Amino acid sequence: MMRAKAVSVTLLGLALVILACDRDQERAQNQNASANAAPVQAVSYPPDPGPPPAADGDRALQYVKDIVKFGPRPLGSEGHKKVEDYIDSHLKGDDVEDDTFTADTPEGKFPVHNIVAKYPGTKDGIILIASHYDTNYPLRKTSFVGANDGGSSTGLLLELANHLRGKQRDGYSVWLVWDDAEEAMKPDGSGGLPNEMPFEKDSLYGITHLVDKWQADGTLKKVKALILADMIGDADLNVERDTHSTSWLEDVIYEAATRLGYQSHFFGRQLEVSDDHVPFLKRGVPSVDLIDFNYGYNDTYWHTTQDTVDKLSPRSLQIVGSVILESIRILDKMEPLPPK
Ligand SMILES: [Zn+2]
Repeated sequence: MMRAKAVSVTLLGLALVILACDRDQERAQNQNASANAAPVQAVSYPPDPGPPPAADGDRALQYVKDIVKFGPRPLGSEGHKKVEDYIDSHLKGDDVEDDTFTADTPEGKFPVHNIVAKYPGTKDGIILIASHYDTNYPLRKTSFVGANDGGSSTGLLLELANHLRGKQRDGYSVWLVWDDAEEAMKPDGSGGLPNEMPFEKDSLYGITHLVDKWQADGTLKKVKALILADMIGDADLNVERDTHSTSWLEDVIYEAATRLGYQSHFFGRQLEVSDDHVPFLKRGVPSVDLIDFNYGYNDTYWHTTQDTVDKLSPRSLQIVGSVILESIRILDKMEPLPPK
């Protein structure tokens, strides 16, 4: 996962205040604009059609352990190739789209490989669930394995595939996206080091390529929602409410979490996060980033060699996986979905 780490607590506080002010202003404007309009109806969510979904956290964690054993997975590395093959080996028999291209990065040209597994539904439209699987390139010469950052959500998506495979979905098609080259190639401009680059210009290579391709071939307009998972394996699970994300979709996530009794792990803190959902948001696709950006006290494990499997918990993977499955179930039956 990448994000401007340089935002100090004070600056972040300021940013949140500004955002809050903006929102108050927006609310006031909306109230003025809607004074003569019909009253807005409260969203009512469809009832559950059956017993709650339950992702298998132990199985998901085993996938993460397998992935981490390959070592660092930066672009162009042996570990990267191994994790590509590992993901593919678990999708045998599924409908898989490989999106391969060459990315021109500040560190040179690299092959990039997005993997998309498609599980068809009866409704017209697609729900995307995404995770990046690469690890940070500037850390490639360290023992950094990204157990949480890249590993946890990659393993979780493999577990979600087990729940989607071989079933006739009574709802939207669900596509699982393991996207590549999310991480920055240069230090991300937050550490005051030489040769840094702003992360907006040096990250999200894989997902941006996919969004452009799907825009061109008409796929993107069929996408009803993107649920992105990143850094969701922390044993101390606190998923942020990201201010970039689409608020009605965050509300669906919270409804799903509440139905399963996991709401205390969601949205206790509000943050502005730049991640793989941004290219989708720019094209008007409702998107939510499920990320716990407090990994170790004050996020001290993030992008360090301390990001190891012992910091993760199968329960966190089970919680996030189950909430994603429940959210899909709610989205399947929400008529109509809120406007983009
Ligand atoms: Zn990262």
